[in-house]
Amino acid sequence: MIYLDNQATTPLAPEARDAMLPYLGGPDTNMFGNPHSPHRMGRQAAAAVDIAREQVAALFPDGGRVIFTGSACEAINLAIRGAETGGKIAVSAIEHAAVIDTARALGTPHIIPVDSEGIADTRSNLPSDTALVGVMQVNNEIGTLQPVEAIAVQAREVGALVLCDAVQGAGKFAPPQGADMIAISAHKIYGPKGIGALWVRDGVELTPQITGGLQEGLRSGTLNPALCAGFGAAAKLARERMAEDAAHARALWDRALDLFEGWTVNGSLSQRNHANLNIRREGLDVARLMSDCRDVMFSAGSACASGSGKPSHVLTAIGLTSEQAKTSVRLGWGRYTTMEELETAAERLNLAALQQG
Ligand code: PLP
Repeated sequence: MIYLDNQATTPLAPEARDAMLPYLGGPDTNMFGNPHSPHRMGRQAAAAVDIAREQVAALFPDGGRVIFTGSACEAINLAIRGAETGGKIAVSAIEHAAVIDTARALGTPHIIPVDSEGIADTRSNLPSDTALVGVMQVNNEIGTLQPVEAIAVQAREVGALVLCDAVQGAGKFAPPQGADMIAISAHKIYGPKGIGALWVRDGVELTPQITGGLQEGLRSGTLNPALCAGFGAAAKLARERMAEDAAHARALWDRALDLFEGWTVNGSLSQRNHANLNIRREGLDVARLMSDCRDVMFSAGSACASGSGKPSHVLTAIGLTSEQAKTSVRLGWGRYTTMEELETAAERLNLAALQQG
């Protein structure tokens, strides 16, 4: 099998797995303590969580705190709902459902348009009653980099808080600047599934959305030290390997542009994550392509939206027709993808697409 769906999730880095193993905690170990217990075993588990928190904090700007959550979706919900601004929410047209649907659940959001390159418009004015702005660092479907800092400047002018969904940018790019809250997810940076984090700038107050023990201050639930340790190790590795991973992604990107010559790239060619290639081909039946190329794992859009039958809101926001959007596929490589795998996958996809006529 060839895995080209690294925007949906990434494999667990061996270093992250090794960091987790001791804290999975069988009865024959002394490593299963509740990190919130004051006894020795509990303190040992808490120490692992503390180290992980510092490692994850290094992915964020200075001047804030890190709250572990069960996912980035949860972190985003805590940020948007917990801010309790009561005012207008503005989100870019290409935000993940975690942001758009949460904003919609609280009212009718103002939508910040994007251009045909898939970059949010920094010239359109935010409504003066905007209280919270949601803008992502890197789009998950088309890989475009967003002008977070410029939008944060606009937000500040109207006195709004800024949430940045940095799920697809964390560990790959420098932390976004200007945000008050930043959400990330371990399983997109070669860490384990089931843990995310919300960074909250000092001085920003949120209301807990899950009440109980309030172990994380703002969030209840016993932390899983194994997940925290894996997240921390993955974060550390991502920082150490940032340049190397980026160079590898770029080499695959350059080759992919040749391999998929007859296809059209969706989104900016320059302002982007080079590990993401979203391409379309006139008349392509994507479901048939997927069935013909079962050994290649790729996406017909974002993993969350695919299967819904609706054209991607990201692709339609950049001006594609429903038909064009439905002829698009997303290929996403990563640290462990080899050039040979990319070439083999391209050969299979191109052959299957050509056979469709
Ligand atoms: N935001 C973006 C941009 C994503 O790509 C994803 C995952 O698909 C999420 C949020 C949600 O992350 P999680 O799976 O940790 O809830």
